[in-house]
Amino acid sequence: MTEKTWAFARDKTAAVRPKSSGVCLVTGVAGFIGSHLAGALLAKGHFVIGVDSLNDYYSPQSKQENLCALLASKAFIFHKKDLNDIPAGTFPAHIDYVFHLAGQPGVRSSWSTSFETYLISNILATQRLLELIVNCDVRRLIFASSSSIYGQASVPVTEGTIPRPLSPYGATKLAAEGLCLAYSSEYSLPLTILRYFTVYGPRQRPDMAIHKFLNAAMTQTPIRIFGDGTQGRPFTYVDDVVDASVSAMSESCHTSIYNISGGRPSTLNDCLAIIEETTSRRITREFCETQRGDPYETEADISEARRCLGYEPRVSLESGIAREWEWMQLHLAGVVSL
Ligand code: NAD
Repeated sequence: MTEKTWAFARDKTAAVRPKSSGVCLVTGVAGFIGSHLAGALLAKGHFVIGVDSLNDYYSPQSKQENLCALLASKAFIFHKKDLNDIPAGTFPAHIDYVFHLAGQPGVRSSWSTSFETYLISNILATQRLLELIVNCDVRRLIFASSSSIYGQASVPVTEGTIPRPLSPYGATKLAAEGLCLAYSSEYSLPLTILRYFTVYGPRQRPDMAIHKFLNAAMTQTPIRIFGDGTQGRPFTYVDDVVDASVSAMSESCHTSIYNISGGRPSTLNDCLAIIEETTSRRITREFCETQRGDPYETEADISEARRCLGYEPRVSLESGIAREWEWMQLHLAGVVSL
């Protein structure tokens, strides 16, 4: 995978891009959600410039493999780069849409990892990106924010619920939202903030619950459940998140914020029962104390996203888990990577 210069990206976008499509910049393109989003944008005929530092929060090798299908497209360019290290004035002069997904995730690990990591990846990198794109004639910035900004608010949360993060991760995502709003106002940059709720599906990050549960089923190892398993999450299938993100490109409001969730929450116990049914394997649970930063339940009011983006979560938990399980089995067979 060679690193290409931004100047090259500028020439190539002009040469390859069909008139009807847009040039999309996707940050965090090698990650779980970013790689799915870039694939969907290419399928819709857009030109995609992807940026990712391939950091080692989890296996960089699996991130490189997430890029394989994208790199086969002539309409995709990849830059292995940390956003904080991109020099000013080197971006392509014209980018239609910016999807900002690069960041440091992990609610629990944000209490145990150096705060600097979250500061650099979620706040400084966002501010750097904003500085880089303000002169690129961008039609819309779409920022991947998180349900973690809400903390333990009464459910269901609306976009107007007062954010009260319970973790350094949530606090840095909220600060990044603030930066996007400030730049949007100062530079008349159209902005949509999407607050994703617990996303899962093929290529899911290995630190996330469903991935861990499926892995436990596959390897027949016990899993730790923090709490009694009755905590609820509106698990959101990655294709639904991608659909919402693509719909945001045609948003008419100058500045908007939407909750994007899979609908009604399911408990971790429900989720485990579905996994046992899907995999025909029993999972041994070890119940442990609740972790810092984990709200007991999250649930989103998605009526604004329904009304303005035409968003509707389509993939049921049963069907989404079956697809993630299928992907994990292919991985085990060496056909795709974890
Ligand atoms: P991920 O870790 O798989 O992807 C993030 C990618 O960003 C990684 O590949 C990483 O290498 C890259 N990155 C990090 N800092 C960077 C920097 N400074 N410059 C360039 N690249 C950098 O995570 P994901 O689960 O795909 O999440 C994507 C985004 O969605 C994140 O911003 C996350 O906060 C947000 N989000 C995710 C979920 C979820 O359930 N997965 C929920 C809410 C919000």
